[in-house]
Amino acid sequence: MAAQLEHRDADASAASTTAMVSMRAVNKHFGALHVLRDIDLDVAPREVVVVVGPSGSGKSTLCRTINRLEPIDSGEIRVDGERLPVEGPGLANLRAEVGMVFQSFNLFADRTILDNLTLAPTKVRKVKRAAAEAEALSLLDRVGIADKAGHFPAQLSGGQQQRAAIARALAMHPKVMLFDEPTSALDPEMINEVLDVMVDLAREGMTMIVVTHEMGFARRAADRVVFMDQGRIVEQNTPAAFFDAPQTDRARSFLASVL
Ligand code: ADP
Ligand code: MG
Repeated sequence: MAAQLEHRDADASAASTTAMVSMRAVNKHFGALHVLRDIDLDVAPREVVVVVGPSGSGKSTLCRTINRLEPIDSGEIRVDGERLPVEGPGLANLRAEVGMVFQSFNLFADRTILDNLTLAPTKVRKVKRAAAEAEALSLLDRVGIADKAGHFPAQLSGGQQQRAAIARALAMHPKVMLFDEPTSALDPEMINEVLDVMVDLAREGMTMIVVTHEMGFARRAADRVVFMDQGRIVEQNTPAAFFDAPQTDRARSFLASVL
């Protein structure tokens, strides 16, 4: 009987109990501008979702609501089953679970790369300095810039800075990684070194939401492509289906503009 009930419960709320990120009927305005319209999105553990869409369609706002950089007007967002707190100590913990990498690298300019990686773990996660440094060095090695530990951000190329920013986010042991156009500010020759790190991360099973115009990355790494336009999720599909057979005129014209 208990097992039966459990089974029925699991079926009834399968999406919300198993999703790593779950957005339900999320709405967000900036003044009169309705930027997120009834967004429903579930991202499964280990899933890689690539979000595409025209400029101004709400992609960045969507990412920012997931770690509460932007409050929502209505609806609900859960990360690993937990409803997002609006403020208080729960918010710092939530932010620690959601790593975010922006277009602009956002490293602390007056700190070494090593310090950039150890700051949050020692302050927020209360990791001992020696342990935080050891892990930071191993993460820098993983993204291929172990030799830059003692450098300052300005001494690194854009691609190296972005890899450092990824390593810094990973140092917090996030459950989910959000990437908002992580390669848009990079010179073309540096794009692949960052995308390669992201592909590795995806293969290792990180749950990822990636806003990008790099359709090659989407084909290589995405489990699903979500197409947004004017604050709505208009279409979602596997990369192959989305790119080869988009279902809506809006998706077709968007693809024609970026491919
Ligand atoms: P995208 O990332 O898809 O280009 P955004 O989420 O950045 O789209 O923006 C969606 C819409 O919200 C745009 O019209 C943008 O101008 C507007 N917007 C974004 N941030 C703000 C803000 N802080 N204040 C007012 N309007 C904003
Ligand atoms: Mg954006």
